[in-house]
Amino acid sequence: MLNVAYLGLGAIGRPMAARLAPAGNVRLTVWNRTTGRAAAFAAKHAVEQASSAAEAVRDADIVITCFPVSADVATLLDGTDGVAAAMRPGSILLDCTSGDPATSRAMAETLGARRITYLDAPVSGGVAGAESGRLTVMIGGDIDAFERVQPVLAHCAAKVVHCGAVGSGAAVKAMNNALLAIHIWSTGEALVALSKAGISSAVALDVINASSGRSNASMNLFPERVLTRAFPRTFRVALLDKDVRIAADLAEQLDVVTPMIQLASQLFDSAHQLLGEEADHVEAVKLVEQIGAQEIM
Ligand code: NDP
Repeated sequence: MLNVAYLGLGAIGRPMAARLAPAGNVRLTVWNRTTGRAAAFAAKHAVEQASSAAEAVRDADIVITCFPVSADVATLLDGTDGVAAAMRPGSILLDCTSGDPATSRAMAETLGARRITYLDAPVSGGVAGAESGRLTVMIGGDIDAFERVQPVLAHCAAKVVHCGAVGSGAAVKAMNNALLAIHIWSTGEALVALSKAGISSAVALDVINASSGRSNASMNLFPERVLTRAFPRTFRVALLDKDVRIAADLAEQLDVVTPMIQLASQLFDSAHQLLGEEADHVEAVKLVEQIGAQEIM
């Protein structure tokens, strides 16, 4: 039996923790900044709710975090709540935040001094993947710790990949999401132009999705969310903006010239500012439509 503490019951954390709650090999304790969310979760899934993050991690073999940005994790570890100090030597922090490689490495060093192993472990697959236990998890860090978290991740993921040293999971995640942003924006541009030319987007996507221009955006996001005008809120544009900025900054730090990624970062920064904190990432397409003075039809 593994004692697991899950900290951060947001759009991804909640369904991930819900898959761990009934697992026979896991004893789950949850904590969330907004206490009511943790209380509702604990009542629904019959698991323990800790009164503080420090209390949640005290007996944990594996602590899972899923916050918006790395700084949120680092602050919680070092802050007055004293989470790092409360964690057991020999335990693992499995950080499912889509974070940045440099902060991941800094946290790994700080925790390492306390004999706690840090793994950066961002996920992809969205809320639907988290609910169905079909996430992809990309992990950076110690290979023995990577092996030790497998029995827990087996409940949440269809694919778990060891990407390399600490920070490499965060790096792969940022670049994946830079591609996602580019696909959303460029597919939006293509369909705005085709709509203006009088060509049905359903027809255009039928062709594109059987051709070389296809992507997850064209195959899933546009048919399900844009053509229907449903635009469900599952992944905030604020978070995609953050991911593309991490990718752009990483490329710059590495002296790699990446005009597409830099432009995607500028466009999603604008989308974030114009659409606000709660808008979904696919709602960026509404800006492409505004700029092109044409709704996708
Ligand atoms: P949400 O905004 O839905 O949830 C964020 C969670 O973090 C909430 O539990 C929130 O608590 C908590 N939180 C926020 N700030 C702090 C803080 N300073 N200290 C403590 N707790 C905090 O985000 P998501 O679940 O969507 O995203 C989480 C991570 O997963 C992000 O890095 C994101 O990029 C990534 N991700 C998201 C996907 C998605 O489809 N949504 C897909 C793949 C990755 P409270 O309830 O109090 O607000």
